[in-house]
Amino acid sequence: VMKILVTGGAGFIGSHTCVELLEAGHDVVILDDLSNASGTVIDKIETITGKRPAFYQADAKDRTVLHEIFTAHRIDAVVHFAGFKAVGESCHIPLAYYRNNLDSTLALLEEMAQAGCTRFVFSSSATVYGPDNAIPYVETMPTYVATNPYGWTKVMIEQILRDYCTATPGFTAVLLRYFNPIGGHPSGLLGDDPNGIPNNLMPYIARVAAGQLDKLTIFGDDYPTPDGTCRRDYLHVVDLAKGHLKAIDYAMEHTGAEAFNLGTGHAVSVLELVNTFMEATGVNVPYVIGPRREGDLPQMWADTHKAETILGWKAEKTVADMCRASWNFVCSVKKQLCPVRNRNNKTAVSLRDGCFCCLHLVDPGGAVVRDRLPVHMGEQRDDRADAADDIEQRERHGKPELPVPRQGGHMLPLRQKDIERDDRVPQPALSEAGGPRQQCRADHAEALLCEQPQRNGAQQPGGARLATPLHN
Ligand code: UDP
Repeated sequence: VMKILVTGGAGFIGSHTCVELLEAGHDVVILDDLSNASGTVIDKIETITGKRPAFYQADAKDRTVLHEIFTAHRIDAVVHFAGFKAVGESCHIPLAYYRNNLDSTLALLEEMAQAGCTRFVFSSSATVYGPDNAIPYVETMPTYVATNPYGWTKVMIEQILRDYCTATPGFTAVLLRYFNPIGGHPSGLLGDDPNGIPNNLMPYIARVAAGQLDKLTIFGDDYPTPDGTCRRDYLHVVDLAKGHLKAIDYAMEHTGAEAFNLGTGHAVSVLELVNTFMEATGVNVPYVIGPRREGDLPQMWADTHKAETILGWKAEKTVADMCRASWNFVCSVKKQLCPVRNRNNKTAVSLRDGCFCCLHLVDPGGAVVRDRLPVHMGEQRDDRADAADDIEQRERHGKPELPVPRQGGHMLPLRQKDIERDDRVPQPALSEAGGPRQQCRADHAEALLCEQPQRNGAQQPGGARLATPLHN
């Protein structure tokens, strides 16, 4: 059993890695300032694994906290995820990117030196290969030209780690160059949940599918690729998380700096990903073709030979698996909006589909007593009790309803068996992430039922598809 410090452990890749570490029997200490993650992720990691990681909410540059952590815990290895990662933003505020990403790494290395900790796994990126290398990318290729400040921080940190390893016999740095991680945990509890409008393709697709965004814009279809859209090496985040376990094992047995590509070795175009998503989930994703996005490379994928032979790691999941997992996560987030129990015993209906643009009040016989209580489209609410409170408040104070969502929609016909099924399950299932707080607050919530807007080509006539959560 090792004790691993995971910086950025509440983030997308970090949280999945914590789950894999805990499930492999290791102890985990998370350091995360929650600047781009939610504190509920710590609870979710505990729900999934049955073990609660130690958690420090602080900046990874904060020397006092780092010192406290290395004093309180005998850390065997550090996995360093914490960092700013938005390519576009890095072009606007480069100093913030260099300060944050470089400083946190330096602070960690200095604290590790004091504590005698010698194993470091770094979240690097395929972006270090820059615009000039041939594809597929191989670890032996030069990495000295990035296309944006974010990419440069990865190039620079890799160099810092190589220099430090050269100067420090016995120190290990594993540089993991990620390709395009997507998907989420099969429980539906963890996934990519960026604040605001997503920059990356899969979270954008998922929000379009959920009706929170109108349509996807595909950035260019005139690239020199088979269908004209850009090609990337998408990999399942659970596969990627498992790669970190292999990297830690490797770090325990070796010294020096070593880079590994973590990808599938296969390129998938934007159009192929959108089509696979629609096929795998049965949900429509409207899209338009727009202009190219500045700085995008036509295609890239990994040569995975080194990771396979030296780490013994290979991505296993299919693109359809990744799409289902991403959709499952979006559905689960929405599902948490729905209360499980009504105070007046009118009803207790769980959300059946991935959209929450309208909420219904239903009596025990299944009759809709109050329909179309709209909530904001695109509102990212992951607490169903709060949503229910909102509606209650609105009713009580006679506040006007929010405008009906632009995309409209039809009533979701309520089926008796759905209500009965909910009544038989007084507590949310594990995959619904009820948690004690939601459960105790749900008893004063009004019953809510969400409908899927009728823009989904895959829906059956006469009502929305009652999607059950998808599991891998
Ligand atoms: N993309 C797109 N529309 C979007 C977001 C992304 O067409 O709204 C394309 C983008 O041009 C790129 C691919 O999807 O070819 C993957 O983009 P992402 O930002 O997810 O990852 P990147 O490989 O650029 O880091």
